[in-house]
Amino acid sequence: MLTNDTLGQWDRENFFHPSTHLAQHARGETPTRVIKTASGVYIEDRDGNKMLDAFAGLYCVNVGYGRQEIAEAIADQARELAYYHSYVGHGTEASITLSKMILDRAPSNMSKVYFGLGGSDANETNVKLIWYYNNILGRPEKKKIISRWRGYHGSGLVTGSLTGLDLFHKKFDLPMSQVIHTEAPYYFRRDNLDQSEAEFVAHCVAALEAQIEREGADTIAAFIGEPILGTGGIVPPPEGYWAAIQAVLRKHDILLVADEVVTGFGRLGTMFGSDHYGMESDIITIAKGLTSAYAPLSGSIISDKVWKVLEQGTDENGAIGHGWTYSAHPIGAAAGVANLKLIDDLNLIENAGTIGAYLKKSMQEALSEHANVGDVRGEGMLCAVEFVKDKDSRTYFDAADKIGPQISATLLAQDKVIARAMPQGDILGFAPPFCLSREEADTVVAATARAVKTVL
Ligand code: PLP
Repeated sequence: MLTNDTLGQWDRENFFHPSTHLAQHARGETPTRVIKTASGVYIEDRDGNKMLDAFAGLYCVNVGYGRQEIAEAIADQARELAYYHSYVGHGTEASITLSKMILDRAPSNMSKVYFGLGGSDANETNVKLIWYYNNILGRPEKKKIISRWRGYHGSGLVTGSLTGLDLFHKKFDLPMSQVIHTEAPYYFRRDNLDQSEAEFVAHCVAALEAQIEREGADTIAAFIGEPILGTGGIVPPPEGYWAAIQAVLRKHDILLVADEVVTGFGRLGTMFGSDHYGMESDIITIAKGLTSAYAPLSGSIISDKVWKVLEQGTDENGAIGHGWTYSAHPIGAAAGVANLKLIDDLNLIENAGTIGAYLKKSMQEALSEHANVGDVRGEGMLCAVEFVKDKDSRTYFDAADKIGPQISATLLAQDKVIARAMPQGDILGFAPPFCLSREEADTVVAATARAVKTVL
């Protein structure tokens, strides 16, 4: 059997890891972690260390690890038909069934699903389709996309641009000029602490209106947003935010794209985040929870309104020139069908709602009084703790203080619990699998309180 030392050496010599400080890793300052197996909410490394994964991988293993129903569906599909493409009317029983299952669950104005591989390529598809849509409608100048600071929409050229986090722009010559960023609905970090939630929403709306005015509504095609900011800090929007934003978008004939890569299929305790916040979107992006990451698969769910124009476009221009080899990959589709069935059969969305609420409440009870805990927030099975240097004067830590990374490292070292230090640097994020039990939630909370006490 290969030793850990050999794997560590091979890793440093050969493996280009995503989102990693390459020089530190090459010097061995970040250890190679070889995960071997997993079950329920636990992952296990080669040495038998069992860790409670309170971030479900990258908030994607929603049904939990080791689900034999999904493994078997994947194996059966691979044995029967590992691959065939989905161009020009081709499909598989799994991909066609999955398209119906998605539309059965999606908001009623949705019409079709275009399959991709991951959240980034699905959002790239969305932007291309939106440009195509406006070209067909004879308004080629209506192309800019508005996104929010602190939004996360992927790592491609357009999607890295849509992402509103400096880390994903720095030294990549992003964002592209067609992308504009607007205010994040981040009430806790508002400049004016005297503002009420309603006043803060009005401020976000006024900022958006001013941007539209400056750019010209006839140059703006769409607005993209996660129902609740994810990678940017797990920030639920203030009350009334989405209704107010949608009113502005409708007034200016700007499409709304709900990026539900994290929230789709139950993470907020409802099927979609759009259901939770009353978003009437024109396109919905789905990925992670579609297969619970048992196989890569994503989708763009397209509304009737957009679909009609796309269809008309192909009558005028011929086949739509957009396709991936692996669109609707049979193995991903088989995983998706088994995953959505399992979510229904085990009532996992309800569990995400009830256990998620319990997790947040317990975390608030355990941590809110701590001098350096500024905010404990969340929705459904998403929770975040934001640390501040001083609560009364509301002074924030610098990214260089690495408070989030220190606490997450301590949490892992002391109690073998995995939470994610969010990129901002002072936020600890939790997004457990939906099957988390009350006892496991208690473990996460107790371990977090202990880690916070150790570091702060
Ligand atoms: N959109 C959102 C909201 C995400 O959180 C992510 C990934 O975390 C993406 C898009 C990109 O998905 P992927 O990493 O599968 O390309």
